[in-house]
Amino acid sequence: MTDTPTQLFIGGTWVDATDGATMPVDDPATGEILCHVADAGPKDARLAEDAAVQAQEEWARTAPRTRSEILRRAYEIILERTDELAHLMTAEMGKPLAEARGEVVYAAEFFRWFSEEAVRVDGGFGTLPDGRNRMLLSRRPVGPCLLITPWNFPLAMGTRKIGPAVAAGCTMVLKPAPQTPLSSLALAAILKEAGLPDGVLNVVTTSRAGEVCEPLLRGGRIRKLSFTGSTQVGRLLLAQCADTVVRTSMELGGNAPFLVFEDADLDKAVDGAMVAKMRNMGEACTAANRFFVHSSVAEEFGRRLAERMGALVVGPGTRDGVDVGPLIDRAGRAKVVELVSDAVKRGARVLVGGRAPEGPGCFYPPTVLTDVSHESRLMDTEIFGPVAAILTFDDEGEVIRRANDTPWGLVGYVFTEGLDRALRVSERLEVGMVGLNTGLVSNPAAPFGGVKQSGLGREGGRVGIDEFLEYQYLAVPVR
Ligand code: NAP
Repeated sequence: MTDTPTQLFIGGTWVDATDGATMPVDDPATGEILCHVADAGPKDARLAEDAAVQAQEEWARTAPRTRSEILRRAYEIILERTDELAHLMTAEMGKPLAEARGEVVYAAEFFRWFSEEAVRVDGGFGTLPDGRNRMLLSRRPVGPCLLITPWNFPLAMGTRKIGPAVAAGCTMVLKPAPQTPLSSLALAAILKEAGLPDGVLNVVTTSRAGEVCEPLLRGGRIRKLSFTGSTQVGRLLLAQCADTVVRTSMELGGNAPFLVFEDADLDKAVDGAMVAKMRNMGEACTAANRFFVHSSVAEEFGRRLAERMGALVVGPGTRDGVDVGPLIDRAGRAKVVELVSDAVKRGARVLVGGRAPEGPGCFYPPTVLTDVSHESRLMDTEIFGPVAAILTFDDEGEVIRRANDTPWGLVGYVFTEGLDRALRVSERLEVGMVGLNTGLVSNPAAPFGGVKQSGLGREGGRVGIDEFLEYQYLAVPVR
């Protein structure tokens, strides 16, 4: 912790907030303060924006190979420091060390992927239908970007945006979540070490997100917002972007359905459920929120899932053998407590867990609820905790209707051994991603994103860089 930067990163320099303000970073396992970091105000945000705007022109002209090699070096440094970064992440966010190490590798992979994409941006040339006019197409960076990230994947949500922005030639102001600023600051230090020119990435940590970001979005100099967070905040930011027609990418909330058909392999379904529910203690936008299980296998599935969930070890993420760390903060835990209590009041049975322990830290035990009523609040609220809510169904058409009966559409999971059914159901689910007999879809080489109120655009994959590029069409008549 002693070497971790705690100041703002502006124009390649570490600086305090201009008014000297700082904010605490808490350890969710103990509730104790880990350290203080700079707490930026609007003036600091403007300085960060100035640095990004100033660096944009030269950065856009920098050779793609140079940009690519910076990302590649940063990828290697991140991997060399896996352990150090994992400890930092566990300290500020709570996830068990093994998961934090997994996230470091996942996060680094976005830099490797986009270092490869940076040199593959193509344009086009063609003859138009009249046979005379020619069309030259080139692609250019969209310009200075504001990147806003959540706390649940403190490193990967940063690299998933910074990677394509660097590859495309955009400069950036990054505003991480106030609960987890340290991972982003460590990332900025790594990019500087890897040779990123001053001003290309600027990081402002702040407890005043609205005051800091709104002037940037309305000011006319930021050309792109890439946001990951809740749908509620996403809507507000879209409205702020409307005035100056800022381009947006929105990775928003989810309400993932997890469908287990009567012909599913239950071993695969339970393994898949453990990943789809318990990755990141359930604090993931991709977390399975509603388990729809065919009535002929529901009891067996519930029993097996409860057994596996009940065997998980809950405790501080730094302790050996711990599977489930604390939730992010008291508010996060209070929400889970409330959702479970509401479901139980409406008739749900608790197969395992269901009671928050006494004592310090924001712990909540892995919980399985069955006989959950469709009217329960957790049916249309992201639980964001280790709670699996099981409902039953009898008919394929009916379960698809129920799975789609939500404003969100990020991801869905389908468990069946029938190819016909697998394709038929996946195609009818209103989601951006489907896990077919698997509980994990995230992969830097695949386009991640949702439909409906889960967002706009895609991150990762071949299309991830497109979000940071504009086309320019050059009309050339040939006589
Ligand atoms: P959140 O409350 O929406 O916050 C996300 C980020 O937005 C934080 O940095 C937050 O800072 C900032 N923010 C909040 N209000 C703002 C404003 N008025 N102006 C500018 N920035 C503002 O979400 P969260 O609770 O941190 O994260 C959980 C949510 O993220 C869930 O809904 C989850 O599904 C979603 N998520 C989606 C994806 C995806 O790829 N689709 C991935 C991960 C998470 P403050 O905390 O200071 O307000």
